[in-house]
Amino acid sequence: MSERQTADVRGICRTYHRDPGRLIDIVRDVQAQSGCVAGATIDAIARELGVHRVEVESTVSFYAFLSQEPQGRVVIRLCDDIIDEMNGSAGVAEAFREELGIDFGETTPDGKITLEWTPCIGMCDQAPAALVNDVVFPNLSREVARTIVRGLREHLMPQRLIQHYGDGNNAHDLVQSAVSNNIRQQGPVVFAPMPAGEAIRLALAMNPVEVIRQVKTSRLRGRGGAGFPTGMKWEFTRNAAGGQRYLLCNADEGEPGTFKDRVILTERSDLLFEGMTIAGYAIGADTGILYLRAEYAYLRRFLEHMLQERRRQELLGKGICGHEGFDFDIRIQMGAGAYVCGEETALINSCEGFRGDPRNRPPFPAQEGYRGCPTSVNNVETLCCAARILQKGASWFAQLGSSGSTGTKLLSVSGDCMRPGIYEVPFGIKIAEVLDLCGAPEAHAVQIGGPSGQMLGQDGFGRTICYDDVATGGAFMIFGRERDVVYIAAKFLDFFVEESCGYCTPCRVGNVLLKDSLDRILGGRGEPRDLDLLQRLGKTVKACSRCGLGQTSPNPVLTTLEHFRGEYEARLQMPTNGRRASFDIQAALTEATRITSRSRGER
Ligand code: SF4
Repeated sequence: MSERQTADVRGICRTYHRDPGRLIDIVRDVQAQSGCVAGATIDAIARELGVHRVEVESTVSFYAFLSQEPQGRVVIRLCDDIIDEMNGSAGVAEAFREELGIDFGETTPDGKITLEWTPCIGMCDQAPAALVNDVVFPNLSREVARTIVRGLREHLMPQRLIQHYGDGNNAHDLVQSAVSNNIRQQGPVVFAPMPAGEAIRLALAMNPVEVIRQVKTSRLRGRGGAGFPTGMKWEFTRNAAGGQRYLLCNADEGEPGTFKDRVILTERSDLLFEGMTIAGYAIGADTGILYLRAEYAYLRRFLEHMLQERRRQELLGKGICGHEGFDFDIRIQMGAGAYVCGEETALINSCEGFRGDPRNRPPFPAQEGYRGCPTSVNNVETLCCAARILQKGASWFAQLGSSGSTGTKLLSVSGDCMRPGIYEVPFGIKIAEVLDLCGAPEAHAVQIGGPSGQMLGQDGFGRTICYDDVATGGAFMIFGRERDVVYIAAKFLDFFVEESCGYCTPCRVGNVLLKDSLDRILGGRGEPRDLDLLQRLGKTVKACSRCGLGQTSPNPVLTTLEHFRGEYEARLQMPTNGRRASFDIQAALTEATRITSRSRGER
């Protein structure tokens, strides 16, 4: 490592006050400067922070956007979601390969461009899409992919390759993105206007306990999917022992098919920050952290600007709105590419600079969360709802939606429909009504809640979206008659296999076994007993996994088995002459040859 590089690392660590809790920011900055975080650089960071090198290496090795291997100055990450595949990502991938002369996972011989696959980047309404460094390229075609590579060969500046900006704040000077919002239906909670500070002033006219009572009376439940009552979470956090408290906003939506937070962050960040500030007041926190997924880094400068504006308007900082004693500010914590960090305890670990491993519960974050202090972790949409409740009143909010699920829900609609995008709908809406709204008369199946949710067929289209029937964090993926639901279930399992943190065996191994079994069925070697295996193993993985990822990862298999069993059975082989259809003698011989390093003729 040169003296210059050592000085750079030192400078970056100093920017973050040599705080090991800011390790993710530090290694992100080092990687942006050096192309990777490896060897001597890891030692230098560890020295500066006063921690063991293993701690740094363990963080670097965990996150998909960090690398110990040298990468190109430009990294192209093509999204490999099922929706991207349905929209032609295979052709785009081929164009990238041909034009660059490398395969995925490789870097061009001149060391300038790296090509990778990546899971969901939050653009299913404009797929296929890719991230080129932090720049999003939606609606890709083979031709556009070739144009991008040719442009990069000239100047390695992806931002210069954007031809048209998207709508709304996507065209803001600090965003300048080609992304579109695709807001198809605006409702009264998230998309109605609100003057900045109005809800905060109304909240500050009450004491914090009254604010929590308002939120409890509204019966607001968390919009991330689990549906925990928000007022209760705030109350637990406020009443927990300890002086310092924190408010964390989870903007790490990474479930394939989910992109509602992207649109809120682009168009309604004021409402979100209003909600965060009210939550901070209610729980007694002076610090809020917005955990922003790495895929949305293109919004960071804009969001920092919005925060700065709010400081200028005295809506953040000391004595907010002249209310002596209420000090609250928000910082942005970048993620680094790990779906599991959407789990609240994994997110807390990540905010502290560690690997995004989920923690054992109890203690719950409300008792012992960020830096060991009581912490409320809330979803982006939930905090927007909280601000609206304080502005319009709990009873106004409670009369929207259904009795067990008050308010509205943002749906991220994608797949085989005419109008993919964002729909703000009242809870209690039927799935068939959503299909009408987005133009999907030929829908064969709908995946609700992303891969961890459930796949429903036409006999389920009369069901309703609410916590008492079909709950969802927002993803609504539509599949037409020509789609293969068994293949889709396998694709979703691939995602979970990739994203499992590996801590517990049922999740780490069980999902691989489920995937193997699905591959056998897809390869025409499945037998009736494979369906029993899928069912039993799926239930075991759900029951024995530590966090929400493992507890929901078998859902694609279990719900497609429940609602589309005929599509599995049509692929099965019946054993004949005592032989198992699943046993592939050629594959077994090839594997044995590989393991023993002998060719078949050798003794
Ligand atoms: Fe990690 Fe999966 Fe276990 Fe969750 S369930 S802790 S993701 S291995």
